Amino acid sequence: MTRLYTIPKEKVKPFTLIERAYFGRESSESVWKILDAAAIAANDEIARAHAGRIGKCSLKSNHYLATNLFDKNGECFDGYGSFWGCNSKFCQPCQKRAASGNQKSARQAIENTPMRKRVKHFCWVKNKQIPERERLRTIVLTMPNTKATCLLALEILQYGWALFRKRKFYSDYITGVVKSHEFTVRVDDSYHAHSHLLVGGFFIPEHLLKAEWKYCVEKAFIEFGFDYAALTEHLPDADKLNVQIKLVHSLDKALKEVCKYMTKNESWAKIPAAHLLELANVKRFPRMFDMGGRFRDTARRFNKRAALIKARRKAKADAAKQAEQEKLNAANHDQYYVQTNGIIDGEQKPKIQLTRKRKKNWRDRVGFLGSQVYLTLLDKEINKTVEVRKSFLAKKYPLSSFSDHTDFVWHRANIEFIDELSEERVEDWENSPEYKYFWLFDAHYRTQVGGAVC
Ligand SMILES: [Zn+2]
Repeated sequence: MTRLYTIPKEKVKPFTLIERAYFGRESSESVWKILDAAAIAANDEIARAHAGRIGKCSLKSNHYLATNLFDKNGECFDGYGSFWGCNSKFCQPCQKRAASGNQKSARQAIENTPMRKRVKHFCWVKNKQIPERERLRTIVLTMPNTKATCLLALEILQYGWALFRKRKFYSDYITGVVKSHEFTVRVDDSYHAHSHLLVGGFFIPEHLLKAEWKYCVEKAFIEFGFDYAALTEHLPDADKLNVQIKLVHSLDKALKEVCKYMTKNESWAKIPAAHLLELANVKRFPRMFDMGGRFRDTARRFNKRAALIKARRKAKADAAKQAEQEKLNAANHDQYYVQTNGIIDGEQKPKIQLTRKRKKNWRDRVGFLGSQVYLTLLDKEINKTVEVRKSFLAKKYPLSSFSDHTDFVWHRANIEFIDELSEERVEDWENSPEYKYFWLFDAHYRTQVGGAVC
């Protein structure tokens, strides 16, 4: 059994917070350089704009380091982040943010979906209904390495997965799933695309899973015009299609394994320019992360709840704004102000309807404007976002210090802001995180500067 890929020998992981922050930004910067050079050489406008977006995302002024942040328990911690995100698949900090978001929603879905104790299900091995309890398992599904482009390899995997989840075998054994697609680049320039699954369900016979997965992958390869038999004939066993099932003992570990980046950052340097440009031009990328079955139902329920809370909050703020404006108008016209809300309609709450907004794809704008004009306009939008984010962070964490990656401190712990944290502004002051934080900061300030806050 021969393995074609090698693990880099001196792989040093950044471990301190600041090192991690710098590593992420620098990785993004290196990808920008690779993609920009390829785009200029091919005179590809969309790819140039894509590279430009990553370049702007990786600017030192777009990233911040923070000390003395506090969480909802009043606990102090340090952190880092970026103001504007390009959301590109090539950008390490943006991918990391997406991965942690996915991890959070997957955890919420799994923890709130009860595993059923003993349910009868059809067992294909025994050919009858048997009672069994549901458990969490991780599954890795691989497919033969393809010498196609990177995008095509991912599309084949996606198609194979789409076939697989429609099989009766899938619904018989798996009741909920968290799935993510990944790929690595082998030394022979082929792509090793594979799927990581975290499934809830019954004992899965490995040989049956392998047979089912093989059926789907074979069909997917043929659909995309490959001769599956000829393709796999000379491959060593390790590079042929494989499946691996493991019971989950630690949800944390399993989630980390399933919700991570699409590929390692080093991969982008190994991919040929043509494949890279093709990826940069994709308008709708194959869905790399997804949830299914009962996990998806739970996630949808939570998403709907969160959207409703947000919409209600917005409606309340809008009503307050409108009332304020009406009051102002009445005062200006020297008239009595009559409050109509609530009195005439009684205590009826306004009905809130959730509408889904789809963001316009930036690639359409580039096609219309050209990359140069688009990037100039984008600069203005980013500056605005940075300003808004800065003022938001300074307001939320008045006692924290923020600097960017050029060591420029744009917000210092300011004791004048202490008035902002007064008892009048925060409900249930003595039990609020702000209160704990207030005293924590006071003690810290006494030792550091030698003066009390109040
Ligand atoms: Zn980014």
